[in-house]
Amino acid sequence: MIKAPPREIVEMKHYVSPKAVVDELKPEYPVYCVRPSAIHTPAKTFVHHFPGDTLYAVKCNPMPHMLQELFEAGIRHFDTASLAEISLVSHLLPEADCYFMHPVKARSAIREAHETHGVRHYVVDHVDELQKISEIITPSKDIIIVVRLALHHKAAMYDLSKKFGASVDVVLELLADADRRGFSSGVCFHVGSQCVDADAFRVGVELVREVIQRTEVSLRCVDIGGGFPGHYLNNPVASLEDYIQTITQTINSLKLPEDCRVICEPGRGLASEGESLIVQVHLRKGNALYINDGLYGSMNEEAEGLQRLNRMVPTRAFSSKRKPFILNGPTCDSEDALPKPVELPEDINEGDWIEFGGVGAYGAACRTAFNGFYADTFVTVEDEFVADLSESTT
Ligand SMILES: *Cc1c(COP(=O)(O)O)cnc(C)c1O
Repeated sequence: MIKAPPREIVEMKHYVSPKAVVDELKPEYPVYCVRPSAIHTPAKTFVHHFPGDTLYAVKCNPMPHMLQELFEAGIRHFDTASLAEISLVSHLLPEADCYFMHPVKARSAIREAHETHGVRHYVVDHVDELQKISEIITPSKDIIIVVRLALHHKAAMYDLSKKFGASVDVVLELLADADRRGFSSGVCFHVGSQCVDADAFRVGVELVREVIQRTEVSLRCVDIGGGFPGHYLNNPVASLEDYIQTITQTINSLKLPEDCRVICEPGRGLASEGESLIVQVHLRKGNALYINDGLYGSMNEEAEGLQRLNRMVPTRAFSSKRKPFILNGPTCDSEDALPKPVELPEDINEGDWIEFGGVGAYGAACRTAFNGFYADTFVTVEDEFVADLSESTT
């Protein structure tokens, strides 16, 4: 049972707070709480302070309401990795620009991206992909081949250069090759997702500097990728403004010519704070709770070690003493449990609701319908998500 996200905005009921949601719906199913203001805030920070154009990485959360809110906040460019994503964005936001940022593309996807959607940017990290593109799209200066550099930095939770990216030497060959064929070109890298150290971007920009010093091709764009972190329990990170400041300084030192655009492709950095998730406890067995969402649903990133912040939905008075609980997801797979214990009030019980923050990135996007559980209720709320950070008292 594969579910694709809807292509149209689905009308969402509006509430003042998660408490109001729970009072009315008494939901025994998970509920996503969308906070439009928490989507607009980071988007405006990027739009106003990033020294170039910001592309939203659609894979992070392709829900139409997310794309629409980001567009309203000023995001006009979208990093897409599949024809389905390109088609979704073009359908919903006809004025937006899509960039085909996957280094490995089906021939039919390249053709349709070019012919139907007018996509102009295509990422490559291998000569055979460049060859494939030139067999489908007649080379012209209007088409920009963006060559991806590999970059390994231990500051990121996910290394996105294990599969993709080429060494500086190979990048130089690809740039020369694209130029000989008659394409324009650019370079990109991705520091890895949930990158907790802005220095990784400086390391990436230094690779770009080496490329610029050694190539004769004039670049049309430098794309510093995504990787901007969200706020989670185990990852205290610098503010988005600090990241952008570090990046701006290193980018400025490249002294790029006027006709070379700078772009970035945040997913998580734009989407994570925009949604939270209400889950309900369906059974308590001592220190183990059974909740209605888990690793096969909106909390798949917990499998990678990520710990989301939480607070109780205040439907009753809870003990101020918190202690660690094992949280089991709803499916029958015994692996479907959060790997790390979660601090919750010691008197939590069946029927109580927990709200997890930072679910806007890779939450709804990664859910499956395994075992018949599929989180699919979205509402909007007004309040700010303020996590309960009190420590265990036992
Ligand atoms: C996943 C991805 C992004 C977004 O990454 P975040 O860590 O969510 O910012 C951007 N660009 C590419 C090429 C990606 O694969």
